[in-house]
Amino acid sequence: MASLLLGLAALPKPAGAAVTGATLEADGPVTRLILAVPDGATWRVVAARSPNRILVELPGRTWRIRSSLPGAGRVRAARLERGRMRLDLSAPVALRSAQASGGRLVIELEPGTAAGFARLAAGGRAIAEGGGRTSLPLVVLDPGHGGRDPGAIGRSGTQEKRVVLAAAQSLRRVLESGGRCRVAMTRTNDRFVPLAGRVEFARRREAALFVSLHADSAPGARGASVYTLGESSDQLAGALARRENLADRAGGLRLPPVPPEVQAILMSLVRAETRIGSARMAQQVVAELRPDVPLLPNTHRQAGFMVLKAPDVPAVLVEMGFLSDPRDEAALRRPEHRAKLATALGRAIHGWLDQRQHTGHPMGHPSGTSLG
Ligand SMILES: [Zn+2]
Repeated sequence: MASLLLGLAALPKPAGAAVTGATLEADGPVTRLILAVPDGATWRVVAARSPNRILVELPGRTWRIRSSLPGAGRVRAARLERGRMRLDLSAPVALRSAQASGGRLVIELEPGTAAGFARLAAGGRAIAEGGGRTSLPLVVLDPGHGGRDPGAIGRSGTQEKRVVLAAAQSLRRVLESGGRCRVAMTRTNDRFVPLAGRVEFARRREAALFVSLHADSAPGARGASVYTLGESSDQLAGALARRENLADRAGGLRLPPVPPEVQAILMSLVRAETRIGSARMAQQVVAELRPDVPLLPNTHRQAGFMVLKAPDVPAVLVEMGFLSDPRDEAALRRPEHRAKLATALGRAIHGWLDQRQHTGHPMGHPSGTSLG
């Protein structure tokens, strides 16, 4: 497992998270910078003096463009410097407009005065910014199994893939009516999704949290439980993870070559934050479920579930109960019971998001961890 985790640390960031294009052009008196940016990306424009320059920042984004652009209009030279775009000016400018939409950030500069530029640069605050602040954190719900993979099947014929989808939809409604996060689901119907595809789904969207829902079978086990990534904490956890991970043998992650040292260190910091976030979420889940539904003893367990292996997205897997137990099966068939679970999980997610905002974002998605 250790070498697998190390390998995962070097996975390149999905292209969706990067700045992938840059054009600088003169249009009459206007100098225009156009960047191809991810939707919802946070951005900031800062003016600075000695020498006069404009800095364009996209916190946490990787730049996948050439490191310099030919000058145009009032920009003498443009280049990437310390994770941001630096525009060196040949004459003072004023900001005409700055706007992001449809995957493009367009910044227009027009001729200005030296005094006006000095005012822009005073205090080092952003002269324009957008994105991030208005976009709520994204929670990815992952109903297990689907399509040709029914998951566990109860004695009365209840299929895991159906109850977990119904529960995820119920949880989605709870979260959406709360208005404190966005929600995306790895599947919204009865279709097969490979395990690696589920992880990638969350990473590509820079999810704040990944919650996988299951209701597996395990002889003699009853009640809800929650799993985070780790060496299997017990036999039951190990057996569950092994069975789940067989869901798609072919869908394994391809491991890149050994990463440069610095990258490995950065990623190990990200992984540590992710682990802390995952454990905190598991504790919230246990606390919120406890009053409402029967729990498996040692409710928070660890196991090497494939779907929990994103290095940069905190993740938990909730076993809502065991279809191998007739009482759990009967409960999971009832919409009221699933609604109770969804309400409790909704509280856990809201509580987790609240704490995350108070403590500030963990490492999140530092730039410079990408191979690209
Ligand atoms: Zn399952």
